Amino acid sequence: MIVSINEETLQDIINLETGVLAPLTGFMGEADFDSVVSRYRLANGAVFPLPVTLDVPQAQFDEILPGDRVILEFAGAPVAELEAESRFYLHEPDLAAIFRTSENTHPGVRKERGRSPCRIGGRVQLTDMALLQGALKPAETKAAFAQRGWKTVVGFQTRNPIHRAHEHIQRIGLEICDGLFINPIIGWKKAGDFTQEAVMAAYNRMVSDFYPKDRVYIAGLKTQMRYAGPREAVFHAIIRRNLGCTHFIIGRDHAGVGGYYGPYDAHALARELEPDMGIRLLLTREPYYCKRCGQIVTDKHCAHYQTDRVEISGTIIRKYIHDGYMPDEIMLRQEILDAILHCGQIFLP
Ligand SMILES: [Zn+2]
Repeated sequence: MIVSINEETLQDIINLETGVLAPLTGFMGEADFDSVVSRYRLANGAVFPLPVTLDVPQAQFDEILPGDRVILEFAGAPVAELEAESRFYLHEPDLAAIFRTSENTHPGVRKERGRSPCRIGGRVQLTDMALLQGALKPAETKAAFAQRGWKTVVGFQTRNPIHRAHEHIQRIGLEICDGLFINPIIGWKKAGDFTQEAVMAAYNRMVSDFYPKDRVYIAGLKTQMRYAGPREAVFHAIIRRNLGCTHFIIGRDHAGVGGYYGPYDAHALARELEPDMGIRLLLTREPYYCKRCGQIVTDKHCAHYQTDRVEISGTIIRKYIHDGYMPDEIMLRQEILDAILHCGQIFLP
């Protein structure tokens, strides 16, 4: 049996192969899927908050039996093999449990509804090893951290060029840990967002002009955004643990979308699961510029949230630059803005 897969599934397979998605070694079967959906853990109890599943068309699903070897094909070429162990359906109530909403306007819900509900679980093995080229590998990041002598490393997740609010949080991380691992999610394509080139140019400038070079490591991770809010925040932490981080920053509305999640829902779930996650979490509140305090603060150490707050976010900065306005220096450093504006392509088409 040959099953065609899309690019996102291929990316999952690459991340399974490298160990980024450890302890998973394949696509989830029914027992793991049900357990993940209902209690954020694999059937064996290990924390894993999001399903990683293989969808196949109904006609092929009907023919695949447990024990079958399935060839996974991408763009007409075989790339991996799956040993089918479990077959099950994704049901509507699963979507509501995963995303905390069943509205079709939620991008994660909409994407899942666009996939076949027929899922095949089982161990998967990449067969086209050339696909590992350029992939972020835990063995490499761990070696890089060790080579720098870092005993503690804080991971930072982003999709945007660095602004002053992110800088504030990263400095807190670096105050606590030996090293900062800036790990942008790349390889996904949402029109109007900053290009990978713009994100990397901004960070390279930040490191060359402001951060101590021996305390920062930057590398992109290819994986899809799943927009699952609190679950995805914990997922992001698990991935960074696998890459060798000892700490991970979860900010306000981490991996959220629209207004589907409360600003600190992700903190609540993370707090609950942290004891079993194998990584320490830095749960940071929303940094903003306070006109009264005259610096970047959070509501934890500034009393003027209601009266003197200037909001800073990737969304606002994106809109400013897109519309031809220059963001104020209290939001974005001039050097970073220059680096972004020098990119061939700033936004995804
Ligand atoms: Zn203040």
